[in-house]
Amino acid sequence: MSKFSFEHAFEIDTLKRLIAKHQNHFHHHSLLDLHYRGTPVSLTAIELGKQHKCPTVLFVGGVHGVERIGAQVVLACLNNLINRLPWDTHLQQLLRHVRVAFLPIVNPVGFLKGTRGNGNNVDLMRNAPIEADNGATFMVGGQRVSAKLPWYRGTQLEAETRALIDYVQAQQQRSSSLVCLDVHSGFGMEDHIWFPYAYSKKPFEGMGYIYHLKQLFDKGYPHHGYYRFAPQNHYYQTHGDIWDYLSVNDGKQAPFIPLTLEMGSWAWVRKNPRQMFNFPGYFNPQKPHRHDRILRRHLILMQFLMESAYANVLEKISAPVLTGLNKDARRIWCK
Ligand SMILES: [Zn+2]
Repeated sequence: MSKFSFEHAFEIDTLKRLIAKHQNHFHHHSLLDLHYRGTPVSLTAIELGKQHKCPTVLFVGGVHGVERIGAQVVLACLNNLINRLPWDTHLQQLLRHVRVAFLPIVNPVGFLKGTRGNGNNVDLMRNAPIEADNGATFMVGGQRVSAKLPWYRGTQLEAETRALIDYVQAQQQRSSSLVCLDVHSGFGMEDHIWFPYAYSKKPFEGMGYIYHLKQLFDKGYPHHGYYRFAPQNHYYQTHGDIWDYLSVNDGKQAPFIPLTLEMGSWAWVRKNPRQMFNFPGYFNPQKPHRHDRILRRHLILMQFLMESAYANVLEKISAPVLTGLNKDARRIWCK
């Protein structure tokens, strides 16, 4: 791992460069100031578009420090918007009605250290105050055996977890709908889109909305059917999932749709088995053509989420229609 400790500030540098060059186009602020070996780093939020109450799309990356490709996918989207803004009149119009927010690197110290956990070795996605209702999957579901082992839950709320929770709750207050896409990598061969719950097998209340978005996406983009949508508990159950915590503590005033994109990096390992022998390679594609493909592959989905926000797709669903959608959703996702 130490081999990588010289280069893994790349995403942090990219974010700093984007801010230095384009800060007139967006709002940015630090949610949390941290240090790693004397170097100051921050958890930065960037917002484009409308500031008053409106549909909001939030892209999140870098919750796990070894999953650098997730932060890169989020930064690629931010870079795409910023560079289209000067000429793309449709995008300009969209941003008069929609807010697009970015937290590209939630765990900057983990990035600098090259670890999944934060500076205290805590796995932020196991750290929220919520317990799996029938016990979590062994180890991967979160553990308090040792901070030296992965998936360590910690013993208190970490500052990064607090910052993410506070930020999302503030966005809920300011939004007529809030769709979040939290980008990770490492699970399985395929690209999964998971939604709550991770702590329980009970059906997520927002399932009907997700079913609707999935139908619209599948119809409009039939050749992008590589996403496997499912509640996270179909794969494993965890303690401390931040999106679970936010869903359970949601005021339910507006649709809140937390999605986790789990990019299937085992496929990258299969195609390039040498990656098995180096830890970061397990979570990150290393051939240049594959890297480019990953960075462009998800832009369509991200743009779709912005377009559906602009069209007020979730706000327009009536109560009776939502009841029907919830029924359809339960038929495919609750067994
Ligand atoms: Zn992850």
